[in-house]
Amino acid sequence: MVTELICYKQKMIKLDFDILNELDNVGNEAYKLIVELFPICRSITGEGVRKSLKIIQDQIPIKINEVPSGQKVYDWIIPKEWNIRDAYIKNSKGEKIVNFQKSNLHVMSYSVPIKGKFSLEELKKHLHSLQEYPEWIPYLTSYYNENWGFCISHNQLKNLTDDEYEVKIDSELKDGSLTYGEFVIPGKREEQILLSCYVCHPSMCNDNLTGVALLTLLAKYLRDKELEYTYHFLFIPETIGAITWLSQNEDKVSKIKCGLVATCLGDCGISTYKKTKNGNSIIDRIVKKVLDDSKSKFELVDFFPSGSDERQFSSPGFNLEIGSLMRAMYGKFPEYHTSADNLDFINTESLSDSFKKYLNVILVLENNKIFRSLNPKCEPQLGRRGLYRLIGSQKNEHLDELAILWVLNMSDGTNSLLDISECAGLSFLQVKKTAQILFEKNLLEIVENN
Ligand code: ZN
Repeated sequence: MVTELICYKQKMIKLDFDILNELDNVGNEAYKLIVELFPICRSITGEGVRKSLKIIQDQIPIKINEVPSGQKVYDWIIPKEWNIRDAYIKNSKGEKIVNFQKSNLHVMSYSVPIKGKFSLEELKKHLHSLQEYPEWIPYLTSYYNENWGFCISHNQLKNLTDDEYEVKIDSELKDGSLTYGEFVIPGKREEQILLSCYVCHPSMCNDNLTGVALLTLLAKYLRDKELEYTYHFLFIPETIGAITWLSQNEDKVSKIKCGLVATCLGDCGISTYKKTKNGNSIIDRIVKKVLDDSKSKFELVDFFPSGSDERQFSSPGFNLEIGSLMRAMYGKFPEYHTSADNLDFINTESLSDSFKKYLNVILVLENNKIFRSLNPKCEPQLGRRGLYRLIGSQKNEHLDELAILWVLNMSDGTNSLLDISECAGLSFLQVKKTAQILFEKNLLEIVENN
């Protein structure tokens, strides 16, 4: 047992801020994973989710859970499992004018099976398009209302002529299960950081394959690192998956310190952070600090109770501090929930930047220590300890001296490095590096890792 523990320890690699200057390939890796996942027809249940989770399993050994249809989860019931083989609309000449094999967005998700002949007028009741973007196919679902429908471009809809159309949706709605993936990386503490994404959208990229790829690679990166906190990754169908997971893990929820929902991370827009309900929780402050320190533009958005799974996690029975770090926010970019949210809409640079921001958030969480000055009565004499020489050797002499003074002054055993960096208007990394030097010079002691 002891030997095993030592071996486990030896495998642990320290997590360091320097890594943010490396990881050059992460954007390409994420993009490659998205390309692999893109063609699969996913929904809130079914083979598409299983197939996607198996692809994720090639990267990290996630646990795949199945929860049977009909099971009650709080006020909801796990729906029947939906699968689809094929679907089309043929005109009277036998030409397939709409073909599921060309785009899985053509069929409204959860469409019941149908086979029959329809006049244009009858068929139109089941056709959906986007007038504002006449070339794009919209993405629609009907999970909890038995219905069927096709989504087509508005240009195609306009050009349909009076005819008799043959319609077939070869789908199946039957008792099965809801599938979700879970991966836990243990840290020194039982306290958990929840990182969640959804795996229920068919062929669309920004919403949400970017979140899936980013969390997969983040888990892969963190799994052999020495960690303070325990990291809990969820790959769940949106809404019903979060409700199911919460209902199955109610006893563990108290261990969750904070977390993020990962979505919309590959477009060329600036970062957007949707705050937790609290608005000033530890995760809100850390994300804001990371974005401030990035020196690039960003937007902060107050919590609102629609959006993604943060709304389940922060429902009054749980009140978890879960925010969402994105780029362009869902619903705010025209390509959202359409065929234009495709592989051309995302890019490797944005994926890489988003990944590094998530990793930076984790680095701040992991390093947010509280120190106490070992020389609390007046300032220690810095020159005698070679600290001025050290300052002089660095780029910005004044700022570094100021950083030392800030850290010494505020290290009273109650302020964390994040508190100091916010108060001083200095980057977290500078405050952390300063504290490290002062610690090595025996001017500070560690009180706790916040
Ligand atoms: Zn969506």
